[in-house]
Amino acid sequence: MLPKDLEPIMLGLGHPKYRASQVLEWIYSKMAGSYEQMTNLPAELKETLAKAAPIKPPNVMDVKRAKDGTTKLLIGFPDGANAETVLMEHDYGLSLCVSSQAGCKMGCAFCASAMSGYSRDLTSGEMCWQFIEASRIAKDRRISSVVIMGMGEPLMNYDAVLQFIRVLNWGKGFNIGARRITLSTCGIVPGIERLAGEDLQITLSISLHAPDDATRDRIMPVNKLYNVSEVVGAGKRYADRTGRRVTYEYVMIKGVNDSLSQAAALVKLLKGSLSHVNLIPLNPVPESGLTRSTDATVAAFKKVLEDAGLAVTSRREMGSDIEGACGQLRLKKRRSF
Ligand code: SAH
Repeated sequence: MLPKDLEPIMLGLGHPKYRASQVLEWIYSKMAGSYEQMTNLPAELKETLAKAAPIKPPNVMDVKRAKDGTTKLLIGFPDGANAETVLMEHDYGLSLCVSSQAGCKMGCAFCASAMSGYSRDLTSGEMCWQFIEASRIAKDRRISSVVIMGMGEPLMNYDAVLQFIRVLNWGKGFNIGARRITLSTCGIVPGIERLAGEDLQITLSISLHAPDDATRDRIMPVNKLYNVSEVVGAGKRYADRTGRRVTYEYVMIKGVNDSLSQAAALVKLLKGSLSHVNLIPLNPVPESGLTRSTDATVAAFKKVLEDAGLAVTSRREMGSDIEGACGQLRLKKRRSF
């Protein structure tokens, strides 16, 4: 909730509306685990809230730390659904990768989440819990950016994800600046259009992964719904409307999407638009049968884009030894809690 959501409830309970903001500040900013700790609230209100809306932290089922400092948390919710969240150390601070669904329906050929199936959408509260539990692990170090790039397709769970973004952005709460929030989508065009109208300065990241429909059809079933030109068209309109540079993610898969002619096709598609290409090394998921492009191939591909004037980076791989790297998150089958 945001203050505007809780204020009518406070008024209904016979308390002034500023109590809403106080309670939420305790929960998001001071990360209180109980109403008892909220010392500036009247005792009667604390009791009422503890009965009506108990604070129920999720169960942190597993914590894995990688050699590079990346930490992956598996978080279990009371109905048995669970989600993974990954805390990463960068030179600019800590960032958190949040899951928007327990599992995923999109079925991308290279992705581990696709293989574990879909159980349900996560609520905005469950996304907040990922932030709170990761913050506890981070101790006195603050998480300063969030990428909604974990399990799930955020634009298939639009309302909850948007509420989560607004909560993240609330100054007295988690206080993450909009420009430090990234939403990554496989290209759900109506969702991109809707997001463009929200008046938010967040970064949109589009998982493109191929410059033509034949290749994209092969690795991303969603391409049958929204094809390459529709997705890139929506990305360009997003950039025009928000003035924000759109990131196009491109996971490099050996012999599938890494040829120089595909690099040239990508140039044709994106040249002149406010965009940035992020080349990602494939984290091989054994069941997929797909393998990673060689470093030399990635370098040659990158050079074609750079020579044509596109902004391009290659993403550093993090947390691969704990299956915390991109596309490696997968639902555990454990239900014993
Ligand atoms: N559904 C959203 C967000 C979750 S996936 C989306 O598709 O963008 C987050 C990113 O990880 C996407 O760019 C996705 O394509 C990428 N990814 C998935 N599997 C991967 C793998 N095995 N190796 C590298 N990146 C992968």
